[in-house]
Amino acid sequence: MTTPPLSSLAADSDYDPNSMPVEKARAYIRKFLSPVTAVERLHIRAALGRVLAQEILSTMDVPLNDNSAMDGYAVRFADLKPDAEVALTVIGASFAGKPFSGVAGVGHAVRIMTGGVLPAGCDTVVMQERVTVSGERVTIPGGQQKAQNVRYAGDDIKHDAVVFERGQILRPAELGMIASLGIGEVSVYRKLRVAFFSTGDELAAIGDRLAAGQLYDSNRYTIHGMLTRLGFDPIDMGSIPDDPVAIEAAFGEASRAADVVITSGGVSVGEADFVKQILQRLGEVLFWKIAMKPGRPLAYGKVGDAHFFGLPGNPVSAMVTFYQFVREALLVLMGVPEPSPLPTLKAMCTSAIKKVPGRTEFQRGILSQGSDGAWSVRVTGDQGSGILSSMSQANCFIVLPDTQGNTPAGAPVDVQILEGLI
Ligand code: AMP
Ligand code: MG
Repeated sequence: MTTPPLSSLAADSDYDPNSMPVEKARAYIRKFLSPVTAVERLHIRAALGRVLAQEILSTMDVPLNDNSAMDGYAVRFADLKPDAEVALTVIGASFAGKPFSGVAGVGHAVRIMTGGVLPAGCDTVVMQERVTVSGERVTIPGGQQKAQNVRYAGDDIKHDAVVFERGQILRPAELGMIASLGIGEVSVYRKLRVAFFSTGDELAAIGDRLAAGQLYDSNRYTIHGMLTRLGFDPIDMGSIPDDPVAIEAAFGEASRAADVVITSGGVSVGEADFVKQILQRLGEVLFWKIAMKPGRPLAYGKVGDAHFFGLPGNPVSAMVTFYQFVREALLVLMGVPEPSPLPTLKAMCTSAIKKVPGRTEFQRGILSQGSDGAWSVRVTGDQGSGILSSMSQANCFIVLPDTQGNTPAGAPVDVQILEGLI
């Protein structure tokens, strides 16, 4: 797929790299994403988390036959009486996997187990708890409904149905459905290769002794974790000092090794100028100030043939920008045409939040459900972009839109749920 050059954005009358609304940045990024096209065949077990590169068509009904949803007796509804009991003769049994081969005639019943094929002639199943049995005779009380407790062929999947479209992510339920069709191998898009590194002279590696002014590189671990949760085997290229030669070499290597290069740090004003010059040589990169908090600086573009995301260095900002921009973009690049947004709900905010209009804020929140079932949310405390513990305590982002000002306590707010997602 060919995408337009990034320079084409300058023609957009709303394009302002110094104040880029979150939605606009997402939409711009979407224009330039070219999903992987190479395909591989995998056993379904190995395809968990991968994206289908083919349609899955059903060549059979699932279930294959009409069958019983209960343990009981298969009967002919016409033999029953609406308000009186009837005694029928039990002529055989239908077990799951061992159908009854005969045909039920007038006055007959067939013992049946859950999943047993509905015998020819029968149309209704009576639960065993409702009947009385005496020798070969079973007595069925009145008040039964026609077709009760019967599961029909094709109830789950119909013959000839398009079960899944291309671009479907394969989760446990999809693997099971494909298996239920007797299909063992599927075509999926090849894995996206994602490389990342941190930049900063102040960064030390775990195991190093910290000198004054240094800190341990934590972004490499949060980024590793977020990428791994999304199903990637990311390539960790380490921490790179703020040195033009080292940075240029790292970008070159990463863009050759991967489809996507993610960095943290080095995109804020001041530092960006120096990284900008390098990236101008290696590709086409835009430096945006996003109208959001935290996470204002973001770089986006192409380095060589790789897609590039330059996240801010502050640990919370790096995570927020990853969730808000990179997650969705990676899903598109993996071959998912319309990734679902993070699940969002409205919750009552228990405390007042100060905010100026003009930017979207992603405050870290703790969402909980009251005994009345209503959801409420409170902020985690210090919302500084260096307070990584706020991300650890949070199970959601409280999303305060551009236009909103101060939020009084008790007001409803939008909440994006993070729990277990990535
Ligand atoms: P920068 O975006 O490079 O200007 O960095 C902004 C802030 O984030 C600075 O206080 C950095 O020390 C901090 N920072 C940058 N990279 C990392 C990292 N990999 N791990 C932890 N903190 C970082
Ligand atoms: Mg830096």
